[in-house]
Amino acid sequence: MDQLIKRLRDEQTLPEEDLRILLSAEDDASLEALCLQARQVREQYYGLKVYIRGLIELTNICKNDCYYCGIRRSNRDVVRYRLSHEQVLECCAHGYGLGFRTFVLQGGEDPYWTSDRLVTLIQEIRQSYSDCAITLSIGEWKRVDYERFYAAGANRFLLRHETFDPEHYAVLHPREMSAEHRQHCLRQLKEIGFQTGTGIMVGSPEQTIDHLIRDIRFIEELKPQMIGLGPFLPHKQTPFAGKPAGSLQLTLRLLAILRLMHPEALIPSTTALATLHPEGRLRGILAGCNVVMPNLSPLEQRKKYELYNDKAALGAEAAEGLSLLADQLASIGYELSYERGDSLR
Ligand code: SAH
Repeated sequence: MDQLIKRLRDEQTLPEEDLRILLSAEDDASLEALCLQARQVREQYYGLKVYIRGLIELTNICKNDCYYCGIRRSNRDVVRYRLSHEQVLECCAHGYGLGFRTFVLQGGEDPYWTSDRLVTLIQEIRQSYSDCAITLSIGEWKRVDYERFYAAGANRFLLRHETFDPEHYAVLHPREMSAEHRQHCLRQLKEIGFQTGTGIMVGSPEQTIDHLIRDIRFIEELKPQMIGLGPFLPHKQTPFAGKPAGSLQLTLRLLAILRLMHPEALIPSTTALATLHPEGRLRGILAGCNVVMPNLSPLEQRKKYELYNDKAALGAEAAEGLSLLADQLASIGYELSYERGDSLR
């Protein structure tokens, strides 16, 4: 096993059979060995810094109906909200004051947020915060719209491919959505010049090791600047209510593998990981992650952006909890960084 891990580190890739061995192993020793190597690689490239991104959850209104997601359009029990332009700008002002230099605008796919309105919002943020990165996480659009967002001043875009395999994609999404279109969007985003992020949920229903290997290959081919992955977590008012959550072990294993394959990538230790396990966030950092995304949304709306039940949004997961987060990171030898933290790739 140690030989395999060393080869993965040296060659930044492995044949399928070897990836299968690493992904199927369930022992603590091989996970520890992977994490140790992942930390060393991350330190070589990014030192001990952990970059912070302020997450602003624009709206929980969504026209899509993804089976796993708590804010899917068929969930009638969600109290829906949408931030106004002023509220978004207030979040940015608040976040800037706290030291954030990246704002991530994430949301459901809300018909109010047309391309025109988003362009205006992006321009407003760009004018006020010329030293900040603007990241979008607002789903699938036409190429012209992505081009307009980029021209308006957005720098980065997060769009998880969720799963590469079309059949597995169809297990997770209704028929009007497709794996091919999602991947097509990702290629366009990269071509346009966005620092692009993709990723998956680990342990989503019917996911197999073979699916994960295809995901790993897709990520190798796309070469995204950011890779986001967290465990699948069930939400009670979705078709996947009774499904088990993804495992901490496998999530950490994949994070470490991806760090070894992509030394220059920015990899967040996600909110889902922090929600799954009390030590999830720190375990993610110890598996090679170098980003955290505290929540900057207005407090009264935060509960309503519930992609999965019991989503962490307070304490070290909140923008107001930065000193707590800094202390936690310091306790494992890492340093919270207020820099904008662009990708090395
Ligand atoms: N509408 C945007 C933002 C989606 S929310 C888009 O489609 O890109 C951001 C991510 O949260 C999703 O890409 C998905 O991977 C994750 N997510 C959604 N529901 C989840 C759940 N139940 N468990 C874990 N992660 C979930």
